[in-house]
Amino acid sequence: MVSLDFRTVFTGHLLSTALCAVVLTSLWLKNRERSDGLGFWVANIALQLAASLLILLRGFVPDLLSMAVASTLVVGGIVLLLMGLERYLDVPGKHYHNYAYLVVFFAVHAYFSVVQPNLLARNVNSSVGIGFLSLQIVWLLVRRVSADARADVRMTSAIFGAYAFLSGARIAVDLLVPAGEDLFHSGLWDTLVILGYQMLQIGLTLSLVLLVTRILRTALESDIAQRIQAENALRLSEQKFSAAFENIPDALVLTSLADGLIIDVNHGFTRISEYTQAEAVGKTTRDLQLWAEASDRSHLVDVLQKTGEAVGFEAVFRSKSGRLVEAVVSAAKIVIGEEQFILTVIHDATASKLAQAAVARSEAKFATAFHTSPDAVNINRLEDGVYLDVNEGFTKLTGYTAAEVVGVSSVDIHIWDNPADRERLVAGLVADGVVNNLEASFKGKDGSVIVALMSARIIEIDGEQYILSVTRDIADRLAAEEEILRLNDDLERRVRERTGELTTANEELLEANTRLDEATRAKSDFLASMSHELRTPLNSIIGFSDILIRGMAGELEPEQQKQIGMINASGKYLLELINEVLDLSAIEAGRMHIESVVFDVPALVTAVAESLAPLAAEKGLTLGVEISPAVAMLVSDRVRLEQVLYNLLGNAIKFTDAGSVRVDVRRSTDEMVFSFTDTGRGISQRDLTHIFDEFYQVKRHDIGKSKGTGLGLTVSKRLVELLGGSIDVESVHGAGSTFTVRLPAPG
Ligand code: ADP
Repeated sequence: MVSLDFRTVFTGHLLSTALCAVVLTSLWLKNRERSDGLGFWVANIALQLAASLLILLRGFVPDLLSMAVASTLVVGGIVLLLMGLERYLDVPGKHYHNYAYLVVFFAVHAYFSVVQPNLLARNVNSSVGIGFLSLQIVWLLVRRVSADARADVRMTSAIFGAYAFLSGARIAVDLLVPAGEDLFHSGLWDTLVILGYQMLQIGLTLSLVLLVTRILRTALESDIAQRIQAENALRLSEQKFSAAFENIPDALVLTSLADGLIIDVNHGFTRISEYTQAEAVGKTTRDLQLWAEASDRSHLVDVLQKTGEAVGFEAVFRSKSGRLVEAVVSAAKIVIGEEQFILTVIHDATASKLAQAAVARSEAKFATAFHTSPDAVNINRLEDGVYLDVNEGFTKLTGYTAAEVVGVSSVDIHIWDNPADRERLVAGLVADGVVNNLEASFKGKDGSVIVALMSARIIEIDGEQYILSVTRDIADRLAAEEEILRLNDDLERRVRERTGELTTANEELLEANTRLDEATRAKSDFLASMSHELRTPLNSIIGFSDILIRGMAGELEPEQQKQIGMINASGKYLLELINEVLDLSAIEAGRMHIESVVFDVPALVTAVAESLAPLAAEKGLTLGVEISPAVAMLVSDRVRLEQVLYNLLGNAIKFTDAGSVRVDVRRSTDEMVFSFTDTGRGISQRDLTHIFDEFYQVKRHDIGKSKGTGLGLTVSKRLVELLGGSIDVESVHGAGSTFTVRLPAPG
């Protein structure tokens, strides 16, 4: 049977252990500062190395050394490794049981080495020792370490699992197949076991190196992350500081302590000093002649040198353009890196000085207002009413001088005639901070009661609340109000009386009106019957005179012809007048009957124009008729409309001596529009307003009143209104007139 030479195997084992020792020692040397426990690992491998050496020297050294001591070194080494791993992984543990076990182990091994030499017993003892400790390491790596670290130690724990397994297997095989007494002449199995241990040791060394590297890498990563975080924080704080440096409204100047040269200035500096950054950096404040008084600078430098900082110095600076800036200066020594600097803060106090001046002015204004006000002005403590100050107006109103009341409470001098008034004032002030026009009564020094109007507000003086009140005597005003009330009553009474009179007058007027209406109706009735009675003989006069003129009753002398012609003309005039009077009275009496029939408008207009055409032709006038195509039928009173059209066209011809007369008819969406335009004499503005009045005729200085009744337009207007329409006129005196009639004509 082929069997490896056991000594050769052990020599190989010794060499590989030595190699592992070198690797672990260098691992320890490189990482001992950073990690705990690596020394124990090196100690373990040293013990393993020593054990291998002792075993190899069997026969040359006493058996106790080569057997019992060597095996105890192997097992003791594993105890050290366990302790080393605990330290490395930061999971401390106690090892009294292991120390005790080592003693027992040594005793058993020594017994079976020297007293009763037995290879099987020694092999079992060794395997139990290796297995027992390997299981402890597995337990440590699987159960005791944190969950995070478990992944890092997976390989190591697998290797110790294998150690435990191999030891168990060895015990089993040794017990089943007993070997000889000499280790170096034991069989193949033992050789394989030793080779197995050797492999595991190499694997273990590798796993330990990987463990360290892995943990180192994690540490490095978190180190880098921390560093990045720190760098970011630094950058942020740098940005914050440089933003603060730049944006602070005060001037900041960083100078080198050694030579006084300006290193940096901020925006506040360039604004206050008017020097740009480029102009300032690299110069001293003396170069720039910034200090208006050289002594200010030397004073500051003195203090700075003595105490390291100078706070709140007042100094005057000169800007580039020569403007003087009053400022408050603070400075401190600071160290950046190795170098020392001075940081100077210059606060421009010009504005606050101006504000102080404004406050002083406003105080002066208040004092003047306080003392010269004709009203009583007083300042009392809110809490207890103690007077802080009062003006002359107060003395005039109440009789108390400032000397008498300052320091005394208003309650104590019983100045409030009605103490509830003060309560109302204080309540209002506490709620709103201000009270306006509170009516209150006070008791003067002489006991007289003063009714006054008071306005007050809360003010703060030295952190305490006071009432500033202005009080005005309103006795005069109250008297005036009473007078107004009295006058008012008087006025009301008179209005009542007058209203009574007016009502009576109104009733009388109504009665008169009724009587008038009756009279008008009687007049109209009278006129209607009168006219009717007159028309019959008049028609006879006109008819017979016509017969006479035409010579139907025999030839007439020229003189007779003329006389009868006059009778005929006067008769016609009288008939026209009577007709129009009749119409007017019928309209006024409300007896004009209006019909509603459908008729053809173009036919009507043409008929009217044709019947008047001879009159126009007689005067040499052009008569034009223009009817738009949209004009057709209309529902209205045809007879009355015809009367109006006759009248207006007749007037146009009558009052036109030369030129033309035109009738235009058109329709819009809801109206029919008739216009009569002539180039006649026109109507003056003054007459225009009257021509629709009854019997109104325009007088002409050349011909006096025209021939006519002065009723035509009046009747026309009334008729058009009865038809629901309107009539109006436009005229240019001397140039012509246009009369326009609009009648409703729903589309
Ligand atoms: P008359 O019977 O006098 O024509 P009207 O009432 O018809 O009475 O007219 C009143 C007056 O209005 C007329 O006397 C005339 O002076 C003036 N008048 C009416 N139509 C015209 C017109 N087309 N051109 C100038 N004047 C006119």
